[in-house]
Amino acid sequence: MTVRNLTVLGSTGSIGRATLEVISKHPRRFVIRALAAFSNVDLLVEQYHAFRPQYLCLVDREKSLELKNRLRDEPVEILAGETDLVRLASLDGVDMVVNAVVGAAGMLASLETVRKGRALALANKESLVCGGPLFAPLMKTTGAKILPVDSEHSAIWQALACGRENEIRRIIITGSGGPFRRLPLDKFDEITVEQALSHPTWKMGPKITIDSATLVNKGLEVIEAAILFSMPLEKIRVVIHPQSIVHSMVEFIDSSVIAQMSRPDMRLPITYALFWPERIESDFGTLDLGRLAELTFEEPDFKKFRALPIAFDVARIGGTAPAAYNAANEIAVGAFLEGGLKFSQITEIIEKVLSDFNVVSEPNLDDILSADKNARQRARKLVEKLPCC
Ligand code: NAD
Ligand code: MG
Repeated sequence: MTVRNLTVLGSTGSIGRATLEVISKHPRRFVIRALAAFSNVDLLVEQYHAFRPQYLCLVDREKSLELKNRLRDEPVEILAGETDLVRLASLDGVDMVVNAVVGAAGMLASLETVRKGRALALANKESLVCGGPLFAPLMKTTGAKILPVDSEHSAIWQALACGRENEIRRIIITGSGGPFRRLPLDKFDEITVEQALSHPTWKMGPKITIDSATLVNKGLEVIEAAILFSMPLEKIRVVIHPQSIVHSMVEFIDSSVIAQMSRPDMRLPITYALFWPERIESDFGTLDLGRLAELTFEEPDFKKFRALPIAFDVARIGGTAPAAYNAANEIAVGAFLEGGLKFSQITEIIEKVLSDFNVVSEPNLDDILSADKNARQRARKLVEKLPCC
Protein backbone atom coordinates (compact mmCIF):
# COMPACT_ATOMS: atom_id res chain seq x y z
CA MET A 1 0.00 0.00 0.00
CA THR A 2 1.46 3.35 -1.03
CA VAL A 3 1.13 6.38 1.20
CA ARG A 4 1.10 9.70 -0.62
CA ASN A 5 2.38 12.93 0.85
CA LEU A 6 0.22 15.75 -0.40
CA THR A 7 0.03 19.50 -0.62
CA VAL A 8 -3.42 20.92 -1.32
CA LEU A 9 -3.51 24.44 -2.74
CA GLY A 10 -6.91 26.14 -2.65
CA SER A 11 -8.05 23.82 0.14
CA THR A 12 -10.94 26.06 1.25
CA GLY A 13 -12.69 26.11 -2.13
CA SER A 14 -15.22 23.79 -3.67
CA ILE A 15 -12.61 21.39 -5.15
CA GLY A 16 -10.25 21.78 -2.18
CA ARG A 17 -12.99 20.79 0.28
CA ALA A 18 -14.10 17.86 -1.89
CA THR A 19 -10.44 16.71 -2.08
CA LEU A 20 -10.11 16.77 1.71
CA GLU A 21 -13.39 14.91 2.04
CA VAL A 22 -12.05 12.13 -0.20
CA ILE A 23 -8.77 12.06 1.74
CA SER A 24 -10.57 11.92 5.09
CA LYS A 25 -12.13 8.61 4.01
CA HIS A 26 -8.67 7.12 3.38
CA PRO A 27 -6.55 8.35 6.29
CA ARG A 28 -3.96 5.57 5.91
CA ARG A 29 -3.28 6.39 2.26
CA PHE A 30 -2.46 10.10 2.52
CA VAL A 31 -0.45 12.47 4.66
CA ILE A 32 -1.32 16.13 4.23
CA ARG A 33 1.92 18.11 4.45
CA ALA A 34 0.59 21.55 3.55
CA LEU A 35 -2.64 23.43 2.94
CA ALA A 36 -3.01 26.82 1.30
CA ALA A 37 -5.82 29.21 0.49
CA PHE A 38 -6.48 32.88 -0.10
CA SER A 39 -8.04 34.30 3.07
CA ASN A 40 -10.46 31.93 4.83
CA VAL A 41 -8.94 31.74 8.34
CA ASP A 42 -11.82 29.89 10.03
CA LEU A 43 -11.93 27.04 7.52
CA LEU A 44 -8.15 26.70 7.38
CA VAL A 45 -8.03 26.42 11.20
CA GLU A 46 -10.70 23.73 11.01
CA GLN A 47 -8.78 21.90 8.26
CA TYR A 48 -5.58 22.19 10.31
CA HIS A 49 -7.19 20.40 13.27
CA ALA A 50 -8.56 17.68 11.00
CA PHE A 51 -5.33 16.98 9.05
CA ARG A 52 -2.45 18.42 11.14
CA PRO A 53 -0.23 19.59 8.25
CA GLN A 54 3.26 21.00 8.92
CA TYR A 55 2.60 24.09 6.80
CA LEU A 56 -0.32 26.43 6.23
CA CYS A 57 -0.32 29.38 3.88
CA LEU A 58 -2.71 32.25 3.26
CA VAL A 59 -1.98 34.50 0.31
CA ASP A 60 -3.66 37.41 2.09
CA ARG A 61 -0.90 38.58 4.47
CA GLU A 62 -3.15 40.23 7.04
CA LYS A 63 -5.25 37.10 7.30
CA SER A 64 -2.11 35.01 7.68
CA LEU A 65 -1.20 37.05 10.80
CA GLU A 66 -4.64 36.31 12.17
CA LEU A 67 -4.08 32.62 11.38
CA LYS A 68 -0.70 32.71 13.12
CA ASN A 69 -2.32 34.16 16.18
CA ARG A 70 -5.12 31.60 16.22
CA LEU A 71 -2.64 28.71 15.97
CA ARG A 72 0.22 30.19 18.03
CA ASP A 73 0.46 27.14 20.33
CA GLU A 74 0.41 24.60 17.52
CA PRO A 75 3.42 22.93 15.83
CA VAL A 76 2.70 24.43 12.40
CA GLU A 77 4.60 26.88 10.22
CA ILE A 78 2.42 29.66 8.87
CA LEU A 79 3.40 31.10 5.52
CA ALA A 80 2.05 34.10 3.65
CA GLY A 81 1.81 35.54 0.17
CA GLU A 82 2.15 34.30 -3.39
CA THR A 83 5.83 33.33 -3.19
CA ASP A 84 5.21 31.09 -0.19
CA LEU A 85 2.27 29.45 -1.98
CA VAL A 86 4.66 28.53 -4.79
CA ARG A 87 7.22 27.29 -2.21
CA LEU A 88 4.65 24.81 -0.95
CA ALA A 89 4.61 23.21 -4.38
CA SER A 90 8.23 22.17 -3.94
CA LEU A 91 8.43 20.98 -0.33
CA ASP A 92 10.79 18.07 0.21
CA GLY A 93 9.05 14.75 0.50
CA VAL A 94 5.81 15.82 -1.19
CA ASP A 95 4.72 13.31 -3.86
CA MET A 96 1.69 15.09 -5.22
CA VAL A 97 0.35 18.62 -5.32
CA VAL A 98 -3.39 19.13 -5.74
CA ASN A 99 -3.88 22.53 -7.34
CA ALA A 100 -7.43 23.72 -6.66
CA VAL A 101 -6.68 27.44 -6.71
CA VAL A 102 -9.01 29.46 -8.94
CA GLY A 103 -7.65 31.56 -11.79
CA ALA A 104 -4.24 32.37 -13.25
CA ALA A 105 -3.04 32.83 -9.65
CA GLY A 106 -2.50 29.05 -9.62
CA MET A 107 -0.13 28.91 -12.59
CA LEU A 108 3.23 29.49 -10.91
CA ALA A 109 2.57 26.76 -8.34
CA SER A 110 1.70 24.31 -11.13
CA LEU A 111 4.89 25.19 -12.98
CA GLU A 112 6.93 24.72 -9.80
CA THR A 113 5.31 21.32 -9.16
CA VAL A 114 6.16 20.12 -12.64
CA ARG A 115 9.65 21.65 -12.47
CA LYS A 116 10.31 19.55 -9.36
CA GLY A 117 9.05 16.44 -11.14
CA ARG A 118 6.14 15.94 -8.72
CA ALA A 119 2.73 14.65 -9.72
CA LEU A 120 0.27 17.47 -10.26
CA ALA A 121 -3.42 16.72 -9.68
CA LEU A 122 -4.77 19.65 -11.59
CA ALA A 123 -8.15 21.32 -11.13
CA ASN A 124 -6.73 24.76 -11.90
CA LYS A 125 -7.30 24.66 -15.67
CA GLU A 126 -6.10 28.28 -15.94
CA SER A 127 -2.54 26.97 -15.31
CA LEU A 128 -2.51 25.12 -18.61
CA VAL A 129 -4.52 27.75 -20.46
CA CYS A 130 -2.06 30.52 -19.57
CA GLY A 131 1.18 28.59 -19.26
CA GLY A 132 0.54 26.04 -22.01
CA PRO A 133 3.72 26.69 -24.01
CA LEU A 134 5.86 26.23 -20.87
CA PHE A 135 4.43 22.96 -19.55
CA ALA A 136 5.18 20.51 -22.35
CA PRO A 137 8.98 21.01 -22.43
CA LEU A 138 9.13 20.97 -18.61
CA MET A 139 7.19 17.71 -18.40
CA LYS A 140 9.54 16.17 -20.92
CA THR A 141 12.66 17.09 -18.99
CA THR A 142 11.39 16.29 -15.49
CA GLY A 143 9.04 13.40 -16.29
CA ALA A 144 6.36 15.01 -14.09
CA LYS A 145 2.81 13.85 -14.65
CA ILE A 146 -0.26 16.05 -14.79
CA LEU A 147 -3.30 14.16 -13.54
CA PRO A 148 -6.45 16.00 -14.60
CA VAL A 149 -9.15 16.66 -12.02
CA ASP A 150 -11.48 18.53 -14.38
CA SER A 151 -14.25 15.98 -15.01
CA GLU A 152 -14.09 16.21 -18.82
CA HIS A 153 -10.34 15.71 -18.90
CA SER A 154 -10.54 12.88 -16.40
CA ALA A 155 -13.13 11.24 -18.68
CA ILE A 156 -10.89 11.66 -21.74
CA TRP A 157 -7.89 10.35 -19.81
CA GLN A 158 -9.88 7.27 -18.80
CA ALA A 159 -11.26 6.72 -22.31
CA LEU A 160 -7.82 7.11 -23.90
CA ALA A 161 -6.76 3.94 -22.10
CA CYS A 162 -8.90 2.04 -24.64
CA GLY A 163 -6.61 2.68 -27.61
CA ARG A 164 -3.23 3.87 -28.85
CA GLU A 165 -2.27 7.43 -29.61
CA ASN A 166 -2.28 6.86 -33.39
CA GLU A 167 -5.77 5.33 -33.15
CA ILE A 168 -7.49 8.47 -31.85
CA ARG A 169 -9.79 10.17 -34.35
CA ARG A 170 -10.97 12.94 -32.04
CA ILE A 171 -11.99 13.83 -28.53
CA ILE A 172 -15.49 15.01 -27.75
CA ILE A 173 -15.81 17.32 -24.76
CA THR A 174 -19.28 17.46 -23.26
CA GLY A 175 -20.77 20.47 -21.50
CA SER A 176 -24.11 21.01 -19.78
CA GLY A 177 -24.72 24.20 -21.75
CA GLY A 178 -25.28 26.11 -18.51
CA PRO A 179 -28.47 27.73 -17.24
CA PHE A 180 -29.08 29.89 -20.36
CA ARG A 181 -28.99 27.21 -23.03
CA ARG A 182 -32.61 27.86 -23.94
CA LEU A 183 -32.72 31.61 -23.20
CA PRO A 184 -32.94 33.81 -26.34
CA LEU A 185 -29.90 36.00 -26.92
CA ASP A 186 -31.95 39.22 -26.67
CA LYS A 187 -32.71 38.36 -23.04
CA PHE A 188 -29.05 37.96 -22.04
CA ASP A 189 -28.82 41.60 -20.89
CA GLU A 190 -31.40 40.90 -18.20
CA ILE A 191 -29.53 37.98 -16.62
CA THR A 192 -28.92 38.58 -12.92
CA VAL A 193 -25.95 37.41 -10.86
CA GLU A 194 -28.24 35.11 -8.91
CA GLN A 195 -29.55 33.45 -12.10
CA ALA A 196 -26.05 33.02 -13.49
CA LEU A 197 -24.90 31.47 -10.22
CA SER A 198 -27.52 28.72 -10.26
CA HIS A 199 -25.99 25.99 -12.37
CA PRO A 200 -28.37 23.21 -13.41
CA THR A 201 -26.12 20.22 -12.64
CA TRP A 202 -22.91 21.17 -10.78
CA LYS A 203 -22.20 22.97 -7.48
CA MET A 204 -18.97 24.92 -7.92
CA GLY A 205 -17.13 28.09 -6.93
CA PRO A 206 -18.55 31.40 -8.26
CA LYS A 207 -15.98 32.06 -11.02
CA ILE A 208 -16.32 28.69 -12.75
CA THR A 209 -20.11 28.84 -12.35
CA ILE A 210 -20.22 32.10 -14.32
CA ASP A 211 -17.74 30.61 -16.82
CA SER A 212 -20.13 27.70 -17.27
CA ALA A 213 -22.97 30.09 -18.03
CA THR A 214 -21.01 32.00 -20.71
CA LEU A 215 -19.36 28.78 -22.01
CA VAL A 216 -15.96 30.37 -21.31
CA ASN A 217 -15.44 27.31 -19.13
CA LYS A 218 -15.88 25.05 -22.15
CA GLY A 219 -13.50 27.29 -24.05
CA LEU A 220 -10.89 27.04 -21.30
CA GLU A 221 -11.41 23.27 -21.31
CA VAL A 222 -10.80 23.06 -25.06
CA ILE A 223 -7.47 24.86 -24.60
CA GLU A 224 -6.69 22.71 -21.54
CA ALA A 225 -7.39 19.51 -23.49
CA ALA A 226 -5.27 20.57 -26.47
CA ILE A 227 -2.27 21.01 -24.17
CA LEU A 228 -2.89 18.15 -21.78
CA PHE A 229 -3.36 15.54 -24.50
CA SER A 230 -1.19 17.22 -27.22
CA MET A 231 -4.30 17.20 -29.38
CA PRO A 232 -4.60 19.33 -32.55
CA LEU A 233 -7.68 21.56 -32.42
CA GLU A 234 -9.21 19.93 -35.51
CA LYS A 235 -9.51 16.79 -33.38
CA ILE A 236 -11.41 18.49 -30.56
CA ARG A 237 -15.18 18.83 -30.62
CA VAL A 238 -17.64 20.18 -28.08
CA VAL A 239 -21.10 18.75 -27.67
CA ILE A 240 -23.82 19.95 -25.31
CA HIS A 241 -25.17 17.29 -22.98
CA PRO A 242 -27.49 18.92 -20.43
CA GLN A 243 -27.71 15.96 -18.03
CA SER A 244 -23.94 15.95 -17.25
CA ILE A 245 -23.76 12.16 -17.09
CA VAL A 246 -21.40 11.54 -20.02
CA HIS A 247 -18.36 13.52 -18.95
CA SER A 248 -16.57 13.35 -22.31
CA MET A 249 -15.67 10.85 -25.01
CA VAL A 250 -12.91 9.64 -27.29
CA GLU A 251 -13.64 8.51 -30.82
CA PHE A 252 -11.14 6.04 -32.26
CA ILE A 253 -10.31 5.43 -35.93
CA ASP A 254 -12.58 2.38 -36.10
CA SER A 255 -15.46 4.78 -35.22
CA SER A 256 -15.84 3.37 -31.72
CA VAL A 257 -16.72 6.07 -29.22
CA ILE A 258 -15.68 5.42 -25.62
CA ALA A 259 -17.54 7.53 -23.06
CA GLN A 260 -16.99 7.84 -19.34
CA MET A 261 -20.20 8.19 -17.34
CA SER A 262 -21.06 8.82 -13.73
CA ARG A 263 -23.26 11.03 -11.61
CA PRO A 264 -22.07 14.65 -11.72
CA ASP A 265 -19.91 14.57 -8.59
CA MET A 266 -16.40 16.02 -8.56
CA ARG A 267 -15.35 13.59 -5.83
CA LEU A 268 -15.13 10.94 -8.58
CA PRO A 269 -12.51 12.57 -10.83
CA ILE A 270 -10.70 13.78 -7.70
CA THR A 271 -10.54 10.19 -6.39
CA TYR A 272 -9.34 8.90 -9.76
CA ALA A 273 -6.47 11.42 -9.82
CA LEU A 274 -5.50 10.91 -6.17
CA PHE A 275 -5.29 7.13 -6.43
CA TRP A 276 -4.19 6.73 -10.06
CA PRO A 277 -3.24 4.19 -11.42
CA GLU A 278 -5.46 2.40 -8.90
CA ARG A 279 -9.26 2.43 -8.91
CA ILE A 280 -10.75 2.50 -5.47
CA GLU A 281 -14.10 1.51 -3.97
CA SER A 282 -16.23 4.61 -3.43
CA ASP A 283 -19.61 5.30 -1.86
CA PHE A 284 -20.54 8.36 -3.91
CA GLY A 285 -23.56 6.65 -5.38
CA THR A 286 -23.89 4.56 -8.50
CA LEU A 287 -25.44 5.61 -11.76
CA ASP A 288 -28.95 4.25 -12.01
CA LEU A 289 -29.39 4.25 -15.79
CA GLY A 290 -32.89 2.77 -15.57
CA ARG A 291 -34.08 5.81 -13.65
CA LEU A 292 -32.52 8.40 -15.95
CA ALA A 293 -35.27 9.65 -18.24
CA GLU A 294 -32.93 10.56 -21.09
CA LEU A 295 -29.41 11.38 -22.20
CA THR A 296 -29.45 14.05 -24.90
CA PHE A 297 -26.80 15.69 -27.06
CA GLU A 298 -26.90 18.79 -29.23
CA GLU A 299 -24.54 21.16 -31.04
CA PRO A 300 -23.35 24.20 -29.07
CA ASP A 301 -24.82 27.51 -30.24
CA PHE A 302 -21.70 29.40 -31.33
CA LYS A 303 -23.72 32.54 -32.11
CA LYS A 304 -25.27 32.80 -28.68
CA PHE A 305 -22.17 31.74 -26.78
CA ARG A 306 -19.40 33.49 -28.72
CA ALA A 307 -16.82 32.87 -26.00
CA LEU A 308 -16.56 29.26 -27.17
CA PRO A 309 -15.56 29.89 -30.83
CA ILE A 310 -13.25 32.67 -29.60
CA ALA A 311 -11.51 30.09 -27.40
CA PHE A 312 -10.92 27.86 -30.44
CA ASP A 313 -9.45 30.90 -32.22
CA VAL A 314 -7.10 31.85 -29.38
CA ALA A 315 -6.03 28.21 -29.02
CA ARG A 316 -5.16 28.18 -32.73
CA ILE A 317 -3.23 31.44 -32.39
CA GLY A 318 -1.46 30.07 -29.29
CA GLY A 319 1.45 31.86 -27.61
CA THR A 320 0.15 34.47 -25.18
CA ALA A 321 -3.35 34.68 -26.72
CA PRO A 322 -4.96 32.15 -24.32
CA ALA A 323 -3.44 33.97 -21.32
CA ALA A 324 -5.05 37.21 -22.54
CA TYR A 325 -8.41 35.48 -23.09
CA ASN A 326 -8.27 34.13 -19.57
CA ALA A 327 -7.16 37.40 -17.94
CA ALA A 328 -9.86 39.44 -19.69
CA ASN A 329 -12.44 36.90 -18.57
CA GLU A 330 -11.26 36.94 -14.94
CA ILE A 331 -11.64 40.72 -14.77
CA ALA A 332 -15.02 40.68 -16.54
CA VAL A 333 -16.40 37.91 -14.33
CA GLY A 334 -15.21 39.73 -11.20
CA ALA A 335 -16.96 42.91 -12.41
CA PHE A 336 -20.16 41.01 -13.25
CA LEU A 337 -20.21 39.37 -9.80
CA GLU A 338 -19.84 42.81 -8.20
CA GLY A 339 -22.74 44.20 -10.21
CA GLY A 340 -20.57 46.41 -12.43
CA LEU A 341 -21.12 44.63 -15.74
CA LYS A 342 -23.95 42.99 -17.66
CA PHE A 343 -23.75 39.26 -18.33
CA SER A 344 -23.50 39.79 -22.08
CA GLN A 345 -20.64 42.24 -21.59
CA ILE A 346 -18.34 39.50 -20.25
CA THR A 347 -17.80 38.11 -23.73
CA GLU A 348 -17.71 41.63 -25.17
CA ILE A 349 -14.78 42.50 -22.88
CA ILE A 350 -12.91 39.35 -23.94
CA GLU A 351 -13.44 40.19 -27.63
CA LYS A 352 -12.36 43.81 -27.17
CA VAL A 353 -9.23 42.90 -25.22
CA LEU A 354 -8.22 40.37 -27.86
CA SER A 355 -8.99 42.67 -30.79
CA ASP A 356 -5.85 44.75 -30.35
CA PHE A 357 -3.65 42.42 -28.35
CA ASN A 358 -0.03 41.87 -29.38
CA VAL A 359 0.50 38.13 -29.19
CA VAL A 360 3.96 36.72 -28.47
CA SER A 361 4.00 33.43 -30.34
CA GLU A 362 6.79 31.62 -28.49
CA PRO A 363 6.57 33.13 -25.04
CA ASN A 364 8.75 32.66 -21.99
CA LEU A 365 7.38 33.02 -18.47
CA ASP A 366 7.86 36.80 -18.42
CA ASP A 367 5.96 37.16 -21.68
CA ILE A 368 3.05 35.19 -20.23
CA LEU A 369 3.02 37.15 -16.99
CA SER A 370 3.05 40.46 -18.83
CA ALA A 371 0.33 39.30 -21.26
CA ASP A 372 -1.80 38.46 -18.21
CA LYS A 373 -1.06 41.84 -16.63
CA ASN A 374 -1.67 43.87 -19.80
CA ALA A 375 -4.91 42.08 -20.62
CA ARG A 376 -6.16 42.69 -17.07
CA GLN A 377 -5.33 46.40 -17.30
CA ARG A 378 -7.08 46.74 -20.63
CA ALA A 379 -10.11 44.81 -19.39
CA ARG A 380 -10.37 46.99 -16.28
CA LYS A 381 -10.35 50.13 -18.42
CA LEU A 382 -13.07 48.70 -20.64
CA VAL A 383 -15.19 47.77 -17.63
CA GLU A 384 -14.98 51.37 -16.41
CA LYS A 385 -15.97 52.73 -19.84
CA LEU A 386 -18.84 50.40 -20.70
CA PRO A 387 -22.30 51.58 -19.75
CA CYS A 388 -23.67 49.08 -17.28
CA CYS A 389 -26.76 48.23 -15.34
P1 NAD B 1 -13.50 28.18 -5.38
O1 NAD B 1 -13.71 29.64 -5.62
O2 NAD B 1 -14.55 27.43 -4.67
O3 NAD B 1 -12.12 27.99 -4.56
C1 NAD B 1 -10.95 28.60 -4.95
C2 NAD B 1 -9.82 28.33 -3.97
O4 NAD B 1 -8.68 29.07 -4.42
C3 NAD B 1 -10.09 28.78 -2.54
O5 NAD B 1 -9.47 27.92 -1.64
C4 NAD B 1 -9.43 30.15 -2.47
O6 NAD B 1 -9.00 30.49 -1.16
C5 NAD B 1 -8.24 29.94 -3.37
N1 NAD B 1 -7.78 31.18 -4.00
C6 NAD B 1 -8.51 32.17 -4.56
N2 NAD B 1 -7.72 33.14 -5.04
C7 NAD B 1 -6.45 32.75 -4.78
C8 NAD B 1 -5.19 33.35 -5.00
N3 NAD B 1 -5.07 34.54 -5.61
N4 NAD B 1 -4.08 32.68 -4.60
C9 NAD B 1 -4.20 31.50 -3.97
N5 NAD B 1 -5.37 30.88 -3.71
C10 NAD B 1 -6.48 31.53 -4.10
O7 NAD B 1 -13.16 27.54 -6.79
P2 NAD B 1 -13.42 26.03 -7.28
O8 NAD B 1 -14.77 25.92 -7.85
O9 NAD B 1 -12.98 25.07 -6.23
O10 NAD B 1 -12.42 25.96 -8.51
C11 NAD B 1 -11.02 25.80 -8.33
C12 NAD B 1 -10.38 25.44 -9.66
O11 NAD B 1 -10.88 24.17 -10.06
C13 NAD B 1 -10.73 26.40 -10.81
O12 NAD B 1 -9.63 26.52 -11.65
C14 NAD B 1 -11.87 25.71 -11.53
O13 NAD B 1 -11.93 26.05 -12.89
C15 NAD B 1 -11.46 24.25 -11.35
N6 NAD B 1 -12.58 23.30 -11.42
C16 NAD B 1 -13.58 23.39 -10.51
C17 NAD B 1 -14.65 22.50 -10.57
C18 NAD B 1 -15.76 22.53 -9.55
O14 NAD B 1 -16.63 21.67 -9.59
N7 NAD B 1 -15.76 23.44 -8.62
C19 NAD B 1 -14.69 21.53 -11.59
C20 NAD B 1 -13.64 21.47 -12.50
C21 NAD B 1 -12.58 22.36 -12.40
MG1 MG C 1 -15.02 20.73 -16.32
